[in-house]
Amino acid sequence: MSRFIPLILLLILLLFSMTQASEISVQVSGGIEKIEAFDEFESRYFSMSQLSEILGEKITWDIVGISAAFESEDHRVVFFINSPYIRIDDSVKNITYPVRTRNGALFVPAKIFIPMLDQIRPEQITWDEGSDRIRIDSEWYNITDLLLQAKANGLLIEIFVTEPKGYETYVSEGNWLNITVPGGTVNRRRILGRRNNRYLRDINVYQFEEAAQISLRLRQPIGKYTHRFQANPPRIQISMIDTSAAPVVQNKVDKVGPDELIDKIIIDAGHGGSDYGAIGLKKTKEKEIVLDIAKRLAKLIRKEKIFQVVMTREKDVYVPLEDRTRIANGSGGDLYVSIHANASLKRSARGFQVFFLAPAKNDAGRAAAQLENAPFLAEMSNKSGQDVDDLSFILSDMIQTEFQAESADLASMIDREFRKKLSKKTKARGIDQAGFIVLNGVYMPSILVESAFLTNKQDEKLLKSKSYRQDIAEAIYAGLKRFKAKYEKR
Ligand SMILES: [Zn+2]
Repeated sequence: MSRFIPLILLLILLLFSMTQASEISVQVSGGIEKIEAFDEFESRYFSMSQLSEILGEKITWDIVGISAAFESEDHRVVFFINSPYIRIDDSVKNITYPVRTRNGALFVPAKIFIPMLDQIRPEQITWDEGSDRIRIDSEWYNITDLLLQAKANGLLIEIFVTEPKGYETYVSEGNWLNITVPGGTVNRRRILGRRNNRYLRDINVYQFEEAAQISLRLRQPIGKYTHRFQANPPRIQISMIDTSAAPVVQNKVDKVGPDELIDKIIIDAGHGGSDYGAIGLKKTKEKEIVLDIAKRLAKLIRKEKIFQVVMTREKDVYVPLEDRTRIANGSGGDLYVSIHANASLKRSARGFQVFFLAPAKNDAGRAAAQLENAPFLAEMSNKSGQDVDDLSFILSDMIQTEFQAESADLASMIDREFRKKLSKKTKARGIDQAGFIVLNGVYMPSILVESAFLTNKQDEKLLKSKSYRQDIAEAIYAGLKRFKAKYEKR
């Protein structure tokens, strides 16, 4: 399938070439909602991440953020970033224009994809180019809402319908109460929206061809219950007699850290050579800023001789992924620090942040990983001649999480030092997790520092100042010493 576009082009596309952000309307039963959109290749792109939420579904990303899956009933759509090929169940479709990512969210061309989405969804979904609107036809639902309330003697569950309906209930393993409605068409979004309820552990909603089913996993054990159909308004009522729940005993897992000496630090200055990394508003290059921070950190460490230092690069050269991990693992490193500067399409985004390797929890984390992964993905694709979907498969398969707890701990220690030194200068964004390829092959606790945003005016000014770069280096160093003090005592 499609090859990766060259690295420089990719970075330019990620950061600069997209047109101004805009919105399109989504017409749903509750009114009109706005989702993010932009134009590219004379095609209207919309945020599939936001539309999925409106449909009551989730997008699941592979760990490094190059493929995303949308699951809908018994269908699965897989998107590959920067590729016009998508996979719907077992067949490959060409949607003419490449799928995009923007600030960590998934964007898809509306005109060609909405009709495909309509095919696999129970609702009618249409794209109206003239009014710049996606319409979700919800006249169609006859199961409209769910309500759970505590009563004196137990729990009352009500399922609202538009007209009298037959139904069946049954209990299944795992404390699930299932209500099946033949001929039912269910408003998944509304029902799943009732998820955050103190009586519920979980909800599943299934739309079958001949029936709909709502499955409720209750917190209290399901004992005796009664049910009946009530008119005005039409609804299915289930009353559950209270039986007090047994206390839950939580097993605490005590993980033991490394027991050897922690005495060798690997410092990885991001990018270098032909890979400039992010570029600032005033053309400041990430590769130069991060090399300077790395050298300052190395100098601090060498002065006190508490640790030894190994650097993945000391000059303005590109170091391939393989070499970075070989230097780290081959030299017997104990801790790995990768130093970077961030970039965003949102000019207001600023601050320092420390990441560790784990699947991203939010779009901002994914955006940082996608940006940092771009050069390595280009490198891997060029070297192996592999397509983006093959890479996505390989990468998802090789993720190691062995040092995740220690890495998270190291991240929070460095974050604490950052706050002490830097929170008056810029924003403290806290620690976060995402799928950074550069941390993946490293067999030791590892973190990635985003020193600040080159795409923010004030942050770029900070990154250009020696004192800020020195502060970053000192904060990282203080965090490393904290980590050594805690983990070597064991
Ligand atoms: Zn970087």
